[in-house]
Amino acid sequence: MAGCKNCGRALSGDEIGLTQKMINRGATEFMCITCLSKFFSCEEELLLKKIEEFRALGCMLFAKKK
Ligand SMILES: [Zn+2]
Repeated sequence: MAGCKNCGRALSGDEIGLTQKMINRGATEFMCITCLSKFFSCEEELLLKKIEEFRALGCMLFAKKK
């Protein structure tokens, strides 16, 4: 599994999906939620809400909750 391109932290599937959704669908480098929130100058909390919104919409980039 790839690490965050900024800080090297191990990434979750949701973080990879969020990078693709928010930056580039064809992205090959990904960022963790902390670096994404810095990149967008927003709260991590907001990005977590976004992930849940995308998941609720059935976006294929985000795994369904079990
Ligand atoms: Zn990071």
